[in-house]
Amino acid sequence: MKVLKFGGTSVGSAASIRNVKEIISSQPGAKMLVLSAMSGVTNSLVELSDACKKDENKPVASVIKALRTKHFDLIDELISDASFRREVKDHIEEILGELQSTTAQAWNEEVNAKILTTGETMLTYIFSSFLKFQGIKNTLLNSRDFMHIENLENPDTGHVAELLNDILKDSEPTDIFIAQGFVRLNSKYEVSTLKRGGSDYTATILGAAIRAEEIQIWTDISGLHNNDPRYVENTHAISQLSFEEAAELAYFGAKILHPQTISPVIGKNIPVYLKNTFTPEAQGTCISSLTDRQGLKAISAKDGITAIKIKSNRMLMAHGFLKKIFEVFDKYETAIDMITTSEIAISLTIDDTSNLDRILAELSNYGELNVDFEHSIICVVGEGLIEDKSSSRIFEILNDVPVRMISYGGSNNNISLLVDTKHKIEVLQKLNQKLFSEKNVSVC
Ligand code: ADP
Ligand code: ASP
Ligand code: MG
Repeated sequence: MKVLKFGGTSVGSAASIRNVKEIISSQPGAKMLVLSAMSGVTNSLVELSDACKKDENKPVASVIKALRTKHFDLIDELISDASFRREVKDHIEEILGELQSTTAQAWNEEVNAKILTTGETMLTYIFSSFLKFQGIKNTLLNSRDFMHIENLENPDTGHVAELLNDILKDSEPTDIFIAQGFVRLNSKYEVSTLKRGGSDYTATILGAAIRAEEIQIWTDISGLHNNDPRYVENTHAISQLSFEEAAELAYFGAKILHPQTISPVIGKNIPVYLKNTFTPEAQGTCISSLTDRQGLKAISAKDGITAIKIKSNRMLMAHGFLKKIFEVFDKYETAIDMITTSEIAISLTIDDTSNLDRILAELSNYGELNVDFEHSIICVVGEGLIEDKSSSRIFEILNDVPVRMISYGGSNNNISLLVDTKHKIEVLQKLNQKLFSEKNVSVC
């Protein structure tokens, strides 16, 4: 079985949904489809949940009304039979009714997740109905029955497999299964999410669980580009990436992939293809255990980084000191992304600041603290990058912008720079020029 994931823009209109139908119909064999919400819908639901949190009633009715119109318009365009259309709209109305009742409950994390994941529930139902209307047999699954993910960073795909297999063995034989992306049940069996953009992660968790022959992630761009196309002109798609390269790029901000997307498949050797729903013939990117060439491949940037410097001239490099520092982060389950040390100071970065106050209070026992917010990690990636002579040009950036930290040699395939976010776009553009200008470019 293959897993095919379609993102928000791929299911954002009747025309793109028809493209999706063509894409799945052109591929023989059993398929598990993972679908996001229509583009823009999760953002509206975030707005709705925020209003509930602040106890503001006003936006609730208008957001629900807009969601009804958007989904009803889609149904009108996709399903021409009046009675079938009515049936589908009635079901969407029920889902919106549940959403309305959820918004009336006291806000908590589960209420939030129930609100946020409603877009996927509506869209998968409409898509499944559309296929049925077209005479294409399919089974609509409920991801809440099997996406039991206790540990977000390290999902137990074996457990998901057991739950899913039980469901699949009792379901009608069909070649197309449809599942909602983004949603999960957490360790308390409460509805939760895989965080924004999480449908990519749903696809690879399910792919690993069913040991899929391949995973296809269909979006609005023809593969992973060598730099962020939102900020840099003339970027190009990379045809082949290793799992490690793709994992680094996703983790360090390449928005095309949720940060954790690659981790479930990395040890299972399941290839992941990134493809464009709007130009399916374009090659896209293949992520697998193969490396077609060594050297520089791509640059990405991760925002929202906080840098903490701990300065102490007494015991910094003394035996056991770093252990004590790391124990503080471990206690508050906060991952560290970058580290640099000198004889009298250690600098490190985190992106999760939910326990920052408590972390700082404990760290203050070990030295003088300095905290910088709103920084970005610029990550340059490529197998064997460290040995690639042209990568020294990365450091020419030091002439142009202040760089707060540099991480070199942590692995063979990554060099990272920490800069103030206000310099991010300039750094991405300048690095593009320095590293991918005509004389340096290595064509994939
Ligand atoms: P989907 O809704 O299908 O999940 P996303 O918006 O999450 O799609 O991801 C696709 C977008 O990611 C592209 O439209 C592009 O603007 C952005 N993007 C950022 N960095 C990259 C990159 N390195 N390569 C390709 N796309 C990128
Ligand atoms: N709909 C969710 C979001 O917008 C999940 C996803 O699209 O991957 O974050
Ligand atoms: Mg996405």
